[in-house]
Amino acid sequence: MNKQPLFEKVAVIGLGLIGSSLCHVMKSEGLAGHIAGNARSQATLDTALGIGFIDSAHVQPSDAVIDADLIVLAAPVGANAALAAAIAPGLKTGAIVTDVGSVKCAVIRDVQPHLPAGVHLVPGHPVAGTEHSGPESGFAELFQKRFCILTPADNTEQQAVEKVTQLWQAAGSVVEVMDAEHHDRVLAITSHLPHLIAYTIVGTASDLEGQLREKQAGGEIEVKTADVIKFSAGGFRDFTRIASSDPVMWRDIFLNNKDAVIELLGRFIEDLTAMQRAVRWEDGDALEEKFRQTREIRRSIIEMGQAGSFKPTETED
Ligand code: NAP
Repeated sequence: MNKQPLFEKVAVIGLGLIGSSLCHVMKSEGLAGHIAGNARSQATLDTALGIGFIDSAHVQPSDAVIDADLIVLAAPVGANAALAAAIAPGLKTGAIVTDVGSVKCAVIRDVQPHLPAGVHLVPGHPVAGTEHSGPESGFAELFQKRFCILTPADNTEQQAVEKVTQLWQAAGSVVEVMDAEHHDRVLAITSHLPHLIAYTIVGTASDLEGQLREKQAGGEIEVKTADVIKFSAGGFRDFTRIASSDPVMWRDIFLNNKDAVIELLGRFIEDLTAMQRAVRWEDGDALEEKFRQTREIRRSIIEMGQAGSFKPTETED
């Protein structure tokens, strides 16, 4: 295979699930002449070199980006401002900086001010993921038939957007371009809020267990963790899987999409209160009507998947 790579040199900063998966794609599709990797720990660099999804390992991000045509920021989003400041002096004119962060306004806020003139920022978010993390969790098929959302500013050079689009299309993704604010609102409801609910409900079950154990003598309903696990049907089990997602990554997502999450959480709490009222007043019609509506939504998601443009996934971040 002698085809010209899409990029001569790519630097990937952060070699966890997403960074390593993208490296696997670039290797298997011949998209990069050389992949330079950077992570926080030597252990991750050693693992990445050992698996072979990077060609060179760099302790300093500023060393990894030298002569790179594409730089992919793939660390938790809270690390971006410091990373952008560190790499900025070493970026060559014409280089493209992209990222994979699950929030987009904060990435633009944190990264853009550091970039020298002539360096193009094309923020990106592959809407694909698993609950696993680290350099050993990546695989080339992760992005297949998943959306990848790009949120470039209106004045971004079109050629830079096109090259990042080609990268994700080569990974098997369906690329959509949208405004960063719109992205953050949409993902707040489709991904961030569901994670917040999962973290909360698993925490609630655990708290309840501890509390009720102390109150056993009081004749209250006792819920043991063992019971929760033993009787966990699909629903709760799904929550526990989602709630096992990386704590640092999710801390950074909530801290960096605060406004959208709080706004949508408010709406959600209102709707939840309406459900609480329907249960309290035994309003079966209201409950049934709501459940019918949501079942239709599930059906339409599955139909989109069957149309091949969207694949419902276990965890989409
Ligand atoms: P991950 O598996 O936890 O890996 C994070 C990587 O970033 C690790 O290699 C870590 O290095 C490195 N890192 C952390 N802080 C760093 C720093 N200051 N400088 C350099 N490297 C640093 O995370 P991930 O799941 O791949 O997520 C990475 C990004 O993708 C996040 O921004 C997240 O929002 C986004 N994303 C995640 C998913 C998902 O489902 N996981 C989906 C879409 C987008 P060490 O290993 O040495 O600690």
